[in-house]
Amino acid sequence: MAKYTEAKCRLCRREGCKLFLKGDRCFTDKCAQVRRPYAPGQHGRARKKVSEYAIQLREKQKTRRAYGVLERQFHDYFEKAEMRKGVTGTNLLVILERRLDNVIYKLGFANSRNQARQMVRHGIFELNGHKVNIPSLQVSAGDVISVPEKNRKIPMIAQAAETTAKRGCPGWLEIDPANFKGTVKALPTRDDIQFPVNEQLIVELYSK
Ligand code: SF4
Repeated sequence: MAKYTEAKCRLCRREGCKLFLKGDRCFTDKCAQVRRPYAPGQHGRARKKVSEYAIQLREKQKTRRAYGVLERQFHDYFEKAEMRKGVTGTNLLVILERRLDNVIYKLGFANSRNQARQMVRHGIFELNGHKVNIPSLQVSAGDVISVPEKNRKIPMIAQAAETTAKRGCPGWLEIDPANFKGTVKALPTRDDIQFPVNEQLIVELYSK
């Protein structure tokens, strides 16, 4: 599978906002977006005339990069969102939010979505009591994600729990830290998604 290998902080600087791709570091003053809040590269500080297309493109790239999804898959998600009832932009965000790697990150079992994705691929988690290794899997209401006994001592899980305390757990999920278990109480709504995005711009971009 294709993989993005460029420095992660450059992505935040390019999008002009924190995408929280590096776990604990994102909450410290070492964050590159705090220290150098302008686009990377030689012309990063130059004033540019920004077209409507560029604004829409940046919004799409920002969202795609925050969730760590490649272009093809992001486009597939958009097509699915279009086919579902309701508002396409909201549907798209809900699809992204329901990804298993995102849920594991939000539950605090991983420090970043990227780390969650790797951990899922290594089969560290169980979904409804069964080992799972597909990060893009869509969770449903009532699903239970857990860490089996033998994996509970993995240092990354303990470290992640500390970081989660700083960012909190969304209301549509419930965490039971003592039993290394998280439950999807309900599917997320638009109000549950705190990521600063204007999804309508993404819809406009793909509708051209
Ligand atoms: Fe982005 Fe985190 Fe790097 Fe800050 S530390 S620029 S939020 S990845």
